[in-house]
Amino acid sequence: MSEVSRVYNFSAGPATIPTEVLAQAQAELLDWHGCGMSVMEISHRGAGYTEVAQRIEADLRELLSVPDHYRVLFMQGGASSQFSMVPLNLLGQKQQADYCDTGIWSAKAIREAGRYTRVNVCASSKSAHYKSVPRMSDWQLSSDSAYVHITPNETIGGLEFYDLPETGDIPIVADMSSTILSRPIDVSRYGVIYAGAQKNIGPAGLTLIIVREDLLDQALDICPSMYSYRKTADQHSMLNTPPTFAWYLSGLVFQWIKRQGGLTHFAEVNAHKAKKLYQAIDQSDFYHNDIEQAFRSWMNIPFTLKRSELDNLFLEQAAEAGLTNLQGHRLTGGMRASIYNAMPEAGVDELISFMLDFAEREA
Ligand code: PMP
Repeated sequence: MSEVSRVYNFSAGPATIPTEVLAQAQAELLDWHGCGMSVMEISHRGAGYTEVAQRIEADLRELLSVPDHYRVLFMQGGASSQFSMVPLNLLGQKQQADYCDTGIWSAKAIREAGRYTRVNVCASSKSAHYKSVPRMSDWQLSSDSAYVHITPNETIGGLEFYDLPETGDIPIVADMSSTILSRPIDVSRYGVIYAGAQKNIGPAGLTLIIVREDLLDQALDICPSMYSYRKTADQHSMLNTPPTFAWYLSGLVFQWIKRQGGLTHFAEVNAHKAKKLYQAIDQSDFYHNDIEQAFRSWMNIPFTLKRSELDNLFLEQAAEAGLTNLQGHRLTGGMRASIYNAMPEAGVDELISFMLDFAEREA
């Protein structure tokens, strides 16, 4: 096989996948486990695939220490579909839900929930220009809400928070699309956790939902069958044909995470990678990140250049150096480095070294 050249891909998602995982998938592609077919071509209901599906769930449960009274669902439609599935499945008899507004993704969740229920914005980062998160003690939680929705990591803004509000019996629902599997979490503090796969899990097309069992029966009558957490749980996420290849590949990623040392390992590495990059930004007067220190994302690090007219040159030269997809989101401009689990520390080191050289040349 000829030598393949891989770049360091800083995309926010679909994001870089461990090379080792891609190589394994490649080696297994034409003849999966001696069956003379690829895993994409076998029945999702056959014994071979059932084993794959069971292993994926078991590995995920182990990685996140998911308690027994939680169900793990694999659905489709991305995290955006959860913006409707959450209210459709959880409102029950309640007329209201609490939402914390920390940026572009929570705003989208709020807008969609508003189609089904009254939304109480219980906390908002708006007055802080989405650069910090209101103190938990200042959140205006309502006692009548079906749930409290949070976005612990805003992928576009680079704003992350780890603490949780005290909500008593009201379940917390978290959109963990861009932070899941980056460090250990206490699943028992949440009612529902959901995440699109295309960052720390695997390829796009798969959506992970972890839901506390007692919340499975709160769906509105209008909830479509394919959107129902209860029906999905009862059919082991096979209400219809699942995206089998995306499941399989995500399973390879879970095994890779386990081989590396699990989430405590990644917590350490991810904190270290992020710290290095923020330090490089802070120590230069050429680059800037204005998120309040305590709320800086470990996964998505936006930054601006002192002179925005240099943005294109920066991106061009970075790409020539094998550092790709550093442009910020189209809504915000600037730059953004997404450094999920599969971005090795060497990639962050190369980025920092490129940034320092660029600053010296162009300052
Ligand atoms: N929530 C967050 C925090 C995200 O980062 C994204 C995608 N970047 C979404 C929701 C939407 O995900 P999807 O494209 O899977 O619908």
